[in-house]
Amino acid sequence: MGVEKKSTHQAGQSWSRRRFFKIGAIGLAGAIIAERTYDYVSESKAKAKIVIVGGGAAGITMAAYLSDMLRYDDITIIEPNETHYYQPGYTLIAADVFTPEEVARPTKTLIPSQVKWLKDSVSELNPDNNTLLTAHNGKVSYDYLVLVPGCQMDFNLVEGITRETLGEGNVHCMYDYKGARICRDAIRKLPDLKEGRLIFTNTYTKIKCGGAPKKICLLTEDNLREHKIRDQFDIKYFANQNELMKPKVFGDRLIDIFKERKVEVKYRHRLASVDTSAKKAVFDLLPEPSAAPLALDANYEKVIVDFDFLHFIPPMSAPDFVKNSAVAVPIDKANQGGWVKVDKGTMIHATYKNIISLGDVAGLPTSKTGAAIRMQAPIAAANLVSLIEGKEPILKYNGYSACPIVTEYGKVLMCEFGYDEKLMPIIPFLDPAVERGMWWLLKVHGLKPMYYQGMLKGLM
Ligand SMILES: Cc1cc2nc3c(=O)[nH]c(=O)nc-3n(C[C@H](O)[C@H](O)[C@H](O)COP(=O)(O)OP(=O)(O)OC[C@H]3O[C@@H](n4cnc5c(N)ncnc54)[C@H](O)[C@@H]3O)c2cc1C
Repeated sequence: MGVEKKSTHQAGQSWSRRRFFKIGAIGLAGAIIAERTYDYVSESKAKAKIVIVGGGAAGITMAAYLSDMLRYDDITIIEPNETHYYQPGYTLIAADVFTPEEVARPTKTLIPSQVKWLKDSVSELNPDNNTLLTAHNGKVSYDYLVLVPGCQMDFNLVEGITRETLGEGNVHCMYDYKGARICRDAIRKLPDLKEGRLIFTNTYTKIKCGGAPKKICLLTEDNLREHKIRDQFDIKYFANQNELMKPKVFGDRLIDIFKERKVEVKYRHRLASVDTSAKKAVFDLLPEPSAAPLALDANYEKVIVDFDFLHFIPPMSAPDFVKNSAVAVPIDKANQGGWVKVDKGTMIHATYKNIISLGDVAGLPTSKTGAAIRMQAPIAAANLVSLIEGKEPILKYNGYSACPIVTEYGKVLMCEFGYDEKLMPIIPFLDPAVERGMWWLLKVHGLKPMYYQGMLKGLM
């Protein structure tokens, strides 16, 4: 254990060994790019005013593809933030493998030069008259809209803690950039505790990177083993669902890993509130899964758990301006969501044919990951160009998503799948249910350069 962690960070390690790992990981990344590169990026003379809402992973990737595909492009990105974050790196910040600075870049350096940036945020969508409202620049009109504002994290749905107070009472969430650093500092201090009760949990809604709550649990456990104090800590993982993961092949392997590592798993527990001063978490014990949606205010049996360290994930939904508009799948109080209603193949809106949506905000029946966006974006961009040309969009996304579940320092279980839980491994002859060092190398050294130099530039 800890082989790569050391080679990444500890001073005095041999440079050539690190270079060997990096070259290996970049080679693997290169092989993946070569395997997945599409051949349908050709230049079109069609003209249209395109507005992209959101300059995150999906927004910048779409801007890159579209400005490449269209000779006379008129593309505007609306994005309020001056800093763009590589969010898959947050887990590795919390685990002390990446520094926070490594995953933050100025937005302006990532937006393609010919694309206009409107530094603003959208407050309302009016798809019936092809306009939207911004906070500072008023009404903006478009011919075609690329809707990619990501997930909204609903911290207000967990009583007793807010995004601003993360860290209080040793309650953490590394889904927030600052929260990831605070979480890292707390994990560093665990050896000072000498003993304790650590609890980790996920949530009941769809979230971005469903694997991340498990990654941080297993990495923290590994860290305690490295400090030779694992036996003094009781670690529990509270899942909201009846399983750890789908497809089953990965869920089964994770059940075994949690057992081997003596992390007790409790199912159907939803975090309702936290008392940060008393260090008590209150969970709703959820009923067996049924077709009925989970009511937030239902009077479920409560389970109170004392903790010394808690890592939780807030429920997530589409941003309010999407949820409250005609482009969303209608929501009920309990199921939240409000994701954009798109065709799962073409990613074109079900009603508004000049709107396309992908990434975390899209109502696609697959996992919300950057890996999914890598596959969605070239298809969505080519389909949008077909629409602008007055042609029928024909390319179909197959639901591919990938979640590299870091199971310990140096090992990753590479979970790749598509619609209907179909396994889609990049290297088909390898048993997918085995965690491997090569996937760790890819995760730590390969994926970030792939993201910045490949995906965000529309090159893969
Ligand atoms: C802890 C963690 C670990 C992860 N691990 C992995 C992993 O290992 N592998 C993987 O593939 N993926 C992983 N992901 C998921 C991945 O980061 C997301 O799926 C991806 O970033 C989603 O891209 P997006 O463009 O849809 O949303 P985002 O990248 O979140 O971008 C949305 C953008 O929209 C902007 N926006 C929001 N509201 C408005 C508005 N009103 N007006 C204008 N702009 C707005 C935001 O400022 C933001 O820049 C992880 C995520 C997290 C948080």
